[in-house]
Amino acid sequence: MPQIRLITFDLDNTLWDVHSVIINAEATMRAWLAEHVPVYGQQIDTQQVQQLRSSAVNENPALAHDVSALRKAVLQRAFVVCGYKEKAAHALSQQAFNVFFEARQQVVFFPGALTMLEELAGEFHLGALTNGNADINAVGLGQYFSFAFSSADVGVSKPAPDMFHAALRHAGVDAADTIHVGDNLVDDIAGAGQLGIHTIWTNHAAVSPGERDHAPTAIVSHLEELPAAVELIRSR
Ligand SMILES: [Mg+2]
Repeated sequence: MPQIRLITFDLDNTLWDVHSVIINAEATMRAWLAEHVPVYGQQIDTQQVQQLRSSAVNENPALAHDVSALRKAVLQRAFVVCGYKEKAAHALSQQAFNVFFEARQQVVFFPGALTMLEELAGEFHLGALTNGNADINAVGLGQYFSFAFSSADVGVSKPAPDMFHAALRHAGVDAADTIHVGDNLVDDIAGAGQLGIHTIWTNHAAVSPGERDHAPTAIVSHLEELPAAVELIRSR
């Protein structure tokens, strides 16, 4: 029987819907830009943002794993296009990013998320593993998690093993005594599964997983079901 001691969680789309969060954060930043840098809205369109993003990643591939640094780099390049000097563009990109970042932490948890985390935190070490830039303290989950790693921290995104290894090393727990919970069958389930970590797929949309090399150990469609799924894995 596995001695489950550590449970790691993906964040975006596992504990909240990220699409609506990003839409809202981008709208908040655009409103700030309209007020403080009106030329931005006149000169920069979505297509241009895409191009600036591509060229930023081409010149510095590490940005692909650091969504915060990438967003700042794109803003800075856009401000240069708008006619700002490098230094002013840099300062402005930091300010605009801060507006985005604060709004990006305003998440609406899926039903049952907080009670589930509270219950599990009483018995297990909990860690957060994200390819994004949600901040566990800023979203209000700091009291449940004992650590968090992002792709920006480790330099590469899930499903690469680095973030999972960082979590196991940090907690001092073996893969066989760990469960990873996430919504993405590749990044989360295959990524953790290939290391021998037990996995729980949060299948909020109740879709078929199809044929997979790394099938999840357990599947839940509501977060309320997670403690029971953990018990099931523990009792195997
Ligand atoms: Mg996710």
